[in-house]
Amino acid sequence: MFSKLSVSPKTERILLKSLDEEISVDDANYLMNVKGVDLFPLLATADFLRREIVGDKVTFINNCNINFTNICTVRCGFCAFGKDADDPDAYVLDDEAILAKARGACDNGAREFCVMGGVHPDADIEYYEHILHLLKDEYPDVFIHGFSPAMISDAASSSGIDIAEACERLKSAGLDTLPGTAAEILTERARNLVCPEKVSVEDWIDIVRTAHEVGIPGSATIMYGHVETLEERVKHIDIIRQLQNETNGFTEFIPMTFMHEFSPIFLEGQSDLGATGSEDLKLYAVSRLMLRDLIPNIQVSWVKMGFRFAQVVLTAGANDLGGTLGGDELSAASGAPDGVDASISTLSSMVRNLGRVPYERDSKYNNFYPVDEL
Ligand code: SF4
Repeated sequence: MFSKLSVSPKTERILLKSLDEEISVDDANYLMNVKGVDLFPLLATADFLRREIVGDKVTFINNCNINFTNICTVRCGFCAFGKDADDPDAYVLDDEAILAKARGACDNGAREFCVMGGVHPDADIEYYEHILHLLKDEYPDVFIHGFSPAMISDAASSSGIDIAEACERLKSAGLDTLPGTAAEILTERARNLVCPEKVSVEDWIDIVRTAHEVGIPGSATIMYGHVETLEERVKHIDIIRQLQNETNGFTEFIPMTFMHEFSPIFLEGQSDLGATGSEDLKLYAVSRLMLRDLIPNIQVSWVKMGFRFAQVVLTAGANDLGGTLGGDELSAASGAPDGVDASISTLSSMVRNLGRVPYERDSKYNNFYPVDEL
């Protein structure tokens, strides 16, 4: 059939092989570059595999972001959220403000608190334990998806403990899952350009592996479309694939397209406008062909893509829409095209309009809840 569509023989051969096995790094690099008539067969193949692996269920979680501080010592070149401590817009939420956000979310049925912020210079492990106890004491049934490898590394060093002890203490205090942020692009060349102060590739892998080993599963992310090459995108996905083969601790893979508008590296002229629409689609499709059912859940970040394009990306291998995400101030600072709040009915309508079926889920993809038609 592909030949009748004038698809190139090499693309056809790789796509047919991908129906039975994960594609190689070389084949992924080739597919990242396809154009013209080869593009839609790639997307259709990824969509077919998605249907084979997870069916027509499209999931999301009713959650809220609690961004407890924007003070950050790391100051990544792509981030418009982090501030110096003496910046007039710098803030740290006190206990009352954190609980007020949690209460508002739970009044609306939240199942997860996504607890993120900057790497605050005074945050040690006791500080993060305090936030976890504060939320878990009041809301024991709500999942806490929180903290990045960069925060854990910094807190462990401030408290004079190793990463394993830091992870064990966070788990005991109530941390359920790790967002997997701070991955950005897992090559030293790209990291030296966009986040030289952040944990190294080796440290990121070591912290995530340790978290998985102590029983904190979580997300894997890629933040792409800034200074990295297409080969570096593939290399990143392959590192995630290898780590998942070792730990089986990733619950989902989340591609996050770079939002250039307010980022320091764009304003300084060091990056372009981010990935194009077809690059976004290829990133999702190639991710599905590389990860297959090893990481069955591939999430679309509607907050970064906007609702319309997020719906299109659901046809390129993705099966999850993330969360309702009340109050994601990190994305808001970067210029989220459709805002940072989605209702359950908005997300469900996008899904039903594709002929697929919306379900709410929990943070670990263990429980699914049908969404009533309105
Ligand atoms: S991305 Fe995170 S670590 Fe980097 S500057 Fe922003 S808040 Fe800080």
